[in-house]
Amino acid sequence: TQALLERAKANADLGAYLALDEETSLAQARAADERLAAGERAPLLGVPIAHKDIFVTKDFPTTAGSKMLEGYRSPFDATVVAKLAATGAVTLGKLNCDEFAMGSGNDNSAYGPVLNPWDKTRVPGGSSGGSSAAVAARLVPAATGTDTGGSIRQPASFTGITGIKPTYGRCSRYGMVAYASSLDQAGPMARSAKDCALLLSAMVGPDLDRDSTSLDRPVEDYAAALGLPLSPEATVAQPLKGLRIGLPQEFFGAGCAPDVLAAVHAALAEYEKLGATLVEIRLPRTELSIPAYYIIAPAEASSNLSRFDGVKFGHRAKDYADLSDMYKKSRSEGFGEEVQRRILTGAYVLSHGYYDAYYLKAQQIRRLIAQDFQSAFEQCDLIAGPVAPSVAWKIGEKSDDPVAAYLADIYTLPASLSGLPGMSVPAGFGSDGMPVGLQLIGNYFQEARLLGAAHHFQ
Ligand code: GLN
Repeated sequence: TQALLERAKANADLGAYLALDEETSLAQARAADERLAAGERAPLLGVPIAHKDIFVTKDFPTTAGSKMLEGYRSPFDATVVAKLAATGAVTLGKLNCDEFAMGSGNDNSAYGPVLNPWDKTRVPGGSSGGSSAAVAARLVPAATGTDTGGSIRQPASFTGITGIKPTYGRCSRYGMVAYASSLDQAGPMARSAKDCALLLSAMVGPDLDRDSTSLDRPVEDYAAALGLPLSPEATVAQPLKGLRIGLPQEFFGAGCAPDVLAAVHAALAEYEKLGATLVEIRLPRTELSIPAYYIIAPAEASSNLSRFDGVKFGHRAKDYADLSDMYKKSRSEGFGEEVQRRILTGAYVLSHGYYDAYYLKAQQIRRLIAQDFQSAFEQCDLIAGPVAPSVAWKIGEKSDDPVAAYLADIYTLPASLSGLPGMSVPAGFGSDGMPVGLQLIGNYFQEARLLGAAHHFQ
């Protein structure tokens, strides 16, 4: 813990951490030491981790990357934070992210951008860019992230680490600052599938009293499952024999950069060597996932973010004429440009006269996308493809063109809209030596299979 605190400070230029608290972290580390001295053994006992600043924490400030929450201190810990703390993991600090998790490059944070440790002129992905950069730069062995439309998978891909978004509802959303509640899901980001498995087992589980979408399913030991065969035909030499991997035609088209496709194909060739069979499948409504998501997510965000009114908590403007002026000024000052854009979009698509044309249509498309996956899973056990259509772009490259950033979410949004588990596994490198991730998507509750397929490849 001490060494990593120093490492975090020495690499402050990356912009990964928003809060460190040496005293708190060292006290937690000493408590873990005592548990170890008493003979307790547990995989995460004493292991330093860090949390995306979207999880509320009572021992550290929480900003959600927004000026709106500057100086905010939560009176309680998010369920995921509390569960990890209970295993004896030490909280090293809070990690930068796009404001309210809205973004793809961690360039929408009120506290400055995060740099990609592989090339500091590039983004680390987003919105969990502090998490991806910190793990990739070895500032911390593992971190939490959240994924609403790709924010665990895409930053993992851009920084050459492993990250998994479990089935929607598997991790409690209690204490996660809400962006789009029907999509938001927590997950781990780490160096390997095995580390992700250890964290994920500590993060999942029912929290029925506190999160109405939390699922009543027992915790699984994902790390123990890594050693189990994935199909009856598996052998030692070919541990993935019998596993059918579906390649959606729509993920391998002209929209994906050739260097990314080359790295993904090379990884898939390895999967074949491990015994997996590749089958071509269709996800015909892939393109529609972008308009559907960018209607549904802002709609939910406009509702969720209405709580930041400058009254109960959040930034409050200094000078105002009356109550409505106070709301206006506080929200104009507290929210960044992208957040305001989403609130306006969301309010528009939900408004009378537009609801049927936009929001309802988007919900119908969402259902069809989920059905397409169920048809695809009749032909395969897992789905694979790129995580993003390019390697990490240059900081600032997409800042003036929000739609360009939205389009880059094309391969992560379908699984998000369907609530399916997905992960990013380092596949290789693209142009300029930048990392490329392979995306694996499983059917509901197939996290163990995803992690197993990633583990055998790693
Ligand atoms: N890039 C997507 C967005 O901006 C996804 C973000 C996320 O998953 N939190 O909404």
